[in-house]
Amino acid sequence: MKTDLPDLVVGGIDYRVEIVPDLARNDGADGEIKYGPSLIRMDSGLDHQSLLVGLLHEAIHAILTQAGYTDHDEHCIGAISYGLLQILRDNPWLVGRITIWPRSGPAST
Ligand SMILES: [Zn+2]
Repeated sequence: MKTDLPDLVVGGIDYRVEIVPDLARNDGADGEIKYGPSLIRMDSGLDHQSLLVGLLHEAIHAILTQAGYTDHDEHCIGAISYGLLQILRDNPWLVGRITIWPRSGPAST
């Protein structure tokens, strides 16, 4: 069974998120990102926490790639993704402040 999530927007790119069976068994990874088709695929066997940290992990890969860094340290990405998950989960006020932060539009004349 395939259950997809909303797109994950990273650096202005809308990545389609697919939950697919047996990704970990076939590729040895819980998730993967494909830049050409703007696609993130996650293994369907992940529990809720692992899915969320995996999405952050793939988003960090995208941030680094978009900035021109192509050789990623997986341990560093793992540390940042778990750290971000904890910060976002344990500080809902921060997420709320970020999401209500008004975007500036074109200057009015
Ligand atoms: Zn990775």
